Amino acid sequence: VITLNGITKSFGSTQVLKAISLDVKPGEVLVLIGASGSGKSTVLRIMSGLEIADGGEVWVNEVPLHDAKRAKEIRGHVGMVFQQFNLFPHKTALGNVTLALIKARKMSVSEANRRGMEALERVGLADRAGHYPSQLSGGQQQRVAIARALAVEPKIMFFDEATSALDPELVGEVTEVMRGLAREGMTMVVVTHEMGFARKTADRVVFMDKGVIAEQGSPEQIFVNPQNPRTQQFLSRVL
Ligand code: ATP
Ligand code: MG
Repeated sequence: VITLNGITKSFGSTQVLKAISLDVKPGEVLVLIGASGSGKSTVLRIMSGLEIADGGEVWVNEVPLHDAKRAKEIRGHVGMVFQQFNLFPHKTALGNVTLALIKARKMSVSEANRRGMEALERVGLADRAGHYPSQLSGGQQQRVAIARALAVEPKIMFFDEATSALDPELVGEVTEVMRGLAREGMTMVVVTHEMGFARKTADRVVFMDKGVIAEQGSPEQIFVNPQNPRTQQFLSRVL
């Protein structure tokens, strides 16, 4: 469903992606790991049409995202979850989840509410639909953000350090929801520092180093038997 072919990207005079090629298959859970500044978020943003590559090709669901005019097409069909939940404080959990359905999709309020409740159920928060963000824990807020992304019935979900802003004891409830989506067969590209999640849930782990894919393989290959010295060095610091 996703193909990157020789993707390059520079900001000013710094080349942050140096000919990245990568395929993501339907239902695959791909986890991107690597040091800060290695280009993980940039890859994710290019895959979701938020950023346009300088060179190379990106195909997502047959849409050529390297064509800036087409990049917008994909945004309604993918779900993005970031470190910052970005919920509207004056809207309830359900209000946050249904906003895009009503405004962008022009769905009726009753239909949006039905879908919104379904999405909240999937993240285990149906009973908090009427709560405001300030009445929810960080983990619950992030689960609302996941429900908001799921409400548009995306074909692909992107997560960029979705658990990094959470207190350690709240990380598990969010990774559990992510694991559930993976089990249901959702195609997912996940940037994370949670090596436990990568180990248990990834179909494939990609290690990025300074704008290139330095190594990729199954979780066993990457965590138990990394071949590249830079992967070994990175893992020795984070594990
Ligand atoms: P982190 O783990 O810290 O999130 P990352 O692997 O996600 O890092 P990116 O955010 O993709 O890294 O950034 C790669 C490089 O590109 C960094 O050097 C960053 O400073 C630079 N960069 C990213 N976005 C921009 C931008 N909009 N303008 C200028 N430089 C940028
Ligand atoms: Mg990042």
